[in-house]
Amino acid sequence: MNRPLIALALLASTAGIAATVSAQTPTEAASTQTWIHAGRVIAVPGQAVRGPTTIVVQDGRIAALHDGFMPAPAGAKIIDLKGKTVLPGLIDSHTHLGSDRAGNEGLAAAMTDGLALNSYETQWNGMKTLRAGFTTVRNLGDEGGKVMAYREAIKRGWVQGPRIVDAAESLSTTGGHMDGRVGLSDEAGEGMVHTENLCDGVDDCRRAVRRQVGRGADVIKFATTGGVNSGTGLATRIYEDEARAIIDTAHAYGKKVAVHAHGLDGIKLAVRLGADSIEHGTTIDDETARMMAKNGTYYVPTLSTVNGYLERLAANPNAYPPAIKKQIDWRIGITGKSLQIAFPLGVRIAYGTDAGVSKHGRNADEFELLVKFGMSPMDAIKAATINAAGLLGLEKEVGTLEVGKSADIIAVDGDPLADVRVLKRMAFVMVRGDVIALN
Ligand SMILES: [Zn+2]
Repeated sequence: MNRPLIALALLASTAGIAATVSAQTPTEAASTQTWIHAGRVIAVPGQAVRGPTTIVVQDGRIAALHDGFMPAPAGAKIIDLKGKTVLPGLIDSHTHLGSDRAGNEGLAAAMTDGLALNSYETQWNGMKTLRAGFTTVRNLGDEGGKVMAYREAIKRGWVQGPRIVDAAESLSTTGGHMDGRVGLSDEAGEGMVHTENLCDGVDDCRRAVRRQVGRGADVIKFATTGGVNSGTGLATRIYEDEARAIIDTAHAYGKKVAVHAHGLDGIKLAVRLGADSIEHGTTIDDETARMMAKNGTYYVPTLSTVNGYLERLAANPNAYPPAIKKQIDWRIGITGKSLQIAFPLGVRIAYGTDAGVSKHGRNADEFELLVKFGMSPMDAIKAATINAAGLLGLEKEVGTLEVGKSADIIAVDGDPLADVRVLKRMAFVMVRGDVIALN
């Protein structure tokens, strides 16, 4: 066979394959579809709630939304959620999937459990999160690359888990919140912790961002202030030129920047320099809130951390070293104050729990706290869907139930707009079109 003939033969065989695909019978096409009969649907949080609706899912995406319960074609899978309220999969914008063992227990675990074992813990926590209805998370800092590995294993279909936007390792200055040596003896500190996530000076801070981008970070997280759990205090722990170097370098690489900040000066510095979100933001004042609203800076309140503290201290009053316990008491007392200032002034709130400090799988507890401190149930749901999707840069993929978006769909008994606590108990979870077993 000469070359033109080979080419013709190839063309013919390719055309043959195409013909086979298009000759699929309607039943064969329907067999790849899932038809969900949903009683009430909060399809686009903030807009009118839909009544009975049929949601057609194909190839992991929402293919159609029809009013009423449409009869499914032969061969399609049918899911009956006629008695449920159906919503878009929820988004937690601030997690640490690697662990939720904190204080002295966390320190002990760091001594005994290596990275390999901790990777299994990461997946275990991811599944708790997914079963709680959180189909997407933004993971803001974990060591050793285990969450990036989990993210990749999920993408390859090796294991189940939520969609993950990962920051790799969080950055701070030496002696700051992300310096794992703080609070340890020199011997333990030098033995346990590596320091490439620490940076001092402009060039070094550029290097630190590039290192995380190079490792595969989707987003950059750093601290302008100390932290509650690290015992590094709440005041600013970075110079302006260093913070600017981190933010500008991340943006130059197309990565958004999440800033851990408690004290007011550290919050203001981050907002002024163009941070995409303020995490915790424990002492936001009116002026800063107005600046955030104007700049479009998201606020991620992480009120749930308080639940983690209270539960651990109830179980063991000595769960934390005394110096850290003092900061925890302060944080408990001030919970919700910034949200009460920021939300009425128009700051966009993105839902985030800091799970890791609070317990994985209890991510929906934050809803109750957001409502307690002034948000309506619908606004809290918006924070966990549309707003969080915007912060994560995933607004075209998740956050609403619309044609073309990923089939990330959850359902609960009862009406979350009347009592947001019903979101703590999932009746149904689907991610990318896959139904997740809930026990
Ligand atoms: Zn955190």
